[in-house]
Amino acid sequence: MPSTKAYAAQSATTPLAPWNVERRALRPYDVQIEILFCGVCHSDLHTVRNEWGGTIYPAVPGHEIVGRVIKTGDRVRNFKEDDLATVGCMVDSCRECNNCKQGLEQYCDNGMVGTYNGLQKDGSGITYGGYSKQIVVHEDFVLKIYDKLPLEGLAPLLCAGITTYSPLRYWNVGKGDKVGILGLGGLGHMGVKLAASFGAEVTMLSHSPSKEADAKRLGAHHFILTSDKQQVKGVRNYFDFILDTISAEHDYNIYLSLLKTNGKMVCVGAPPTPAQVPAFDLIFKRRTLAGSLIGGIPETQEMLDYCIEHNIVSDVEVIAIQDINESYERMLKGDVRYRFVIDMSTL
Ligand code: NAP
Ligand code: ZN
Ligand code: ZN
Repeated sequence: MPSTKAYAAQSATTPLAPWNVERRALRPYDVQIEILFCGVCHSDLHTVRNEWGGTIYPAVPGHEIVGRVIKTGDRVRNFKEDDLATVGCMVDSCRECNNCKQGLEQYCDNGMVGTYNGLQKDGSGITYGGYSKQIVVHEDFVLKIYDKLPLEGLAPLLCAGITTYSPLRYWNVGKGDKVGILGLGGLGHMGVKLAASFGAEVTMLSHSPSKEADAKRLGAHHFILTSDKQQVKGVRNYFDFILDTISAEHDYNIYLSLLKTNGKMVCVGAPPTPAQVPAFDLIFKRRTLAGSLIGGIPETQEMLDYCIEHNIVSDVEVIAIQDINESYERMLKGDVRYRFVIDMSTL
């Protein structure tokens, strides 16, 4: 079994630190990837600190992986040595249930296997993610990119990109729609870029006044400071669609009131604490409150192809792996413009 360097958290209260991961020996359909870049998602932080519960330690996060193939199993057809390869939030699913058959592996009825903190289907233990030098993944869960755009900017597409692309596509957001993107972080900035590229009128809803100029540069047409009651009042009953990417506890009802009749608010942000939503806030104006989880494998490939074709990448700050703990603190302060990406050559 190949052993590879990684960064792991040994408990909810200890910082990430060097550790060795045993990757499985190559199976016929496996692709062995040398990781070049790995994005830093807020879900990594929620998991490392056990904010959602259920973290198994040691935990090696990371599910925005871009790398190069170094070896393939003898039945692999889609990848060869030296190819670029990417891995997102899943590394396996049952492939047999209705959801898997439709390419909705993220909703696998038998449970998809997350790239980290996921239980391997063969009983071999938990999965370890992309804060490491190498990873071994079944080719069905490896996605293709080509060498046209900076690789570090492509890495965050594997989670932040698909998590915003999928709901915008599912609810047919486009020309003529007034869209609010709630929270300008990793997911939020991809939401702004994608919604604007689909032709929607985009408003950034942010609690950080310092982000207004960036929001407009990223493609937002308007900016509302959510701590300013007057500004928020000005967009009541205004939006067709709001994508909520906030990572911390917040009041959903304020934002539901910004939806017009038949408007939809979709939660992708996953605060650890439950929200209180009175039915009345939905009943009046026939509003919908929904959720969405990443995206399936075919749609993730579609999103990568779309972004590469339209020159859409993430705005990133490349960091060394040794800076990861400080980066988490900065992410909590909203001090990231707009995704940290680890240069894995520093490990
Ligand atoms: P992030 O980069 O930290 O961005 C979160 C943003 O939320 C911040 O930039 C900030 O935007 C806003 N925010 C943070 N604290 C707030 C507070 N107390 N009140 C109001 N706004 C606040 O995080 P991310 O990586 O984009 O992830 C966002 C959330 O999505 C996380 O909970 C993550 O676990 C979840 N997620 C879900 C999926 C899925 O499949 N559904 C996939 C990936 C991630 P402003 O400064 O602009 O207000
Ligand atoms: Zn993520
Ligand atoms: Zn399934």
